[in-house]
Amino acid sequence: MKIYSVFLGLTLGLLVCGGLYWYGFTGKTPPAGTYDWKRVEGSKNIIPVAIIGSGPAGLSAALYTSRAHLHTVVFQGPQAGGQLMSTSEVENWPGMGKKQGPEIIKAVQEQAQHFGAVLVNESIKKVDFSVWPYQLVTSEDSQVHALSVIISTGAFPERLKDVPGEVEHWGKGVTACAICDAAFFKDKDVVVVGGGDSAAEQALQLTAYARHITLLVRGDKMRASVAMQDRLKKFDYIKIRYNTSITEIEGDGSRVTGIKLKTAQGSDHMPIDGVFLAIGHKPNTELFKGQIAFTPLGYIAHSCRTQETSQEGVFAAGDVSDERYRQAAVASGDGVKAALDAERFLQRIGFDEIFAKKIERKLYDPVVATNLIEITAIESMDQFKSVVLESKVPVIIDFYTKFCSSCLQIMPYIQAIGTQLKDKLVCVKVDIEKMAELKDRYRVTTVPYFVVIKDGLVVGRYNDVMTKREFFDFASRFITE
Ligand code: NDP
Repeated sequence: MKIYSVFLGLTLGLLVCGGLYWYGFTGKTPPAGTYDWKRVEGSKNIIPVAIIGSGPAGLSAALYTSRAHLHTVVFQGPQAGGQLMSTSEVENWPGMGKKQGPEIIKAVQEQAQHFGAVLVNESIKKVDFSVWPYQLVTSEDSQVHALSVIISTGAFPERLKDVPGEVEHWGKGVTACAICDAAFFKDKDVVVVGGGDSAAEQALQLTAYARHITLLVRGDKMRASVAMQDRLKKFDYIKIRYNTSITEIEGDGSRVTGIKLKTAQGSDHMPIDGVFLAIGHKPNTELFKGQIAFTPLGYIAHSCRTQETSQEGVFAAGDVSDERYRQAAVASGDGVKAALDAERFLQRIGFDEIFAKKIERKLYDPVVATNLIEITAIESMDQFKSVVLESKVPVIIDFYTKFCSSCLQIMPYIQAIGTQLKDKLVCVKVDIEKMAELKDRYRVTTVPYFVVIKDGLVVGRYNDVMTKREFFDFASRFITE
């Protein structure tokens, strides 16, 4: 009986694996003219290994390919470091004991850079895998030519959808990032929606600020690991309500005031100040639609034993192609495999040290701007009055917290644009935890949040992540020549 079960298990495993392999590879369309080295030589902005995305998968891949002396550029995307940047405590990254997510990312970034990987604060906004070298367009409108590509764009948090009030109050009490926004909920009552590890994680991040935290779990049990559930039990102001879902988010358009609930007994109402969503993640695949094969669940399909996608020379690693494990350490392992696959691919098609030397001067290696002016940190109301309210030119205030990874990623853009537009515009930064008075005065409800002041009055606002180009366009709107 046992032997039959093992046989059946193996057969099923092979069928699923073979199916995915087949699925991933039937769509393969080798680029026209295959590997046209003359075309590469005639190009500029060449990248032997272009990595899109900078979480554990992308960075681990970069560490391996740069160590193999392949010029590697990592396009870090809108959230450099990925989901680990908003994870506080990680205790299952092998060999590191207990670490903060950003500490792990910083260590891998430094290790990759040590071997020569170039990490750029840019996103890729368009890809074309129908010609080789593969064409990528960056958020700064540079066109680059990649000999191989590793996709590690990760996943982004799901939204509730179809719940009235969610869209109107997004960033005004409804959020998916506790580590960024917890400080706005000091002594307030909040709910966290979801029953997975992310929900437990967000609830724990809120414990330093919120008065009461209620986890709303739609089923009759949590999906989070036992270790995470045990950590929740240590806080008597964290409550868990099972069989409970949100049906409406109420508020006055500028802040959340309550929620309507569907419960096992019928319906209920809770007055509440904040709603934190932790209801799973969706793979970041939009950019690759029509270019490579996806799995039926919408992840990037790759072969069972390697990270090869349906397009030769394009590899996928981490949460964007992992519908099962979604763990940082697994993503890192995928990244290593993708790097080795990319290295073998380049060798197989004839990329060697002689050719690498030939194109040395044509590599894409964006120069980091020098002589940037410092962005003034506002730390007192007197300083605010003189630098902002009495300024002769418009002032952009960047509200941030030190744990908000997207805020920190935007800083270099602000510095670059503040330098480029100096004399016409001033950029300052305000840490909302240090200057709560300014946060309240300008009704800042989330970070990053930009307020533009001209002649002492508010003339503009924006509350989301921006690319460098978008920030430039936003800032330019307030300049009068
Ligand atoms: P999960 O998919 O694990 O959990 C999602 C949760 O949201 C489930 O409880 C699900 O309910 C619930 N949910 C989904 N849709 C809705 C909805 N519309 N309304 C209400 N509830 C909903 O996602 P996570 O983001 O939590 O975790 C992703 C991966 O990352 C996991 O592998 C996890 O282990 C890992 N992770 C690990 C961490 C750590 O180790 N420190 C921290 C964070 C994440 P249901 O169960 O009923 O489907």
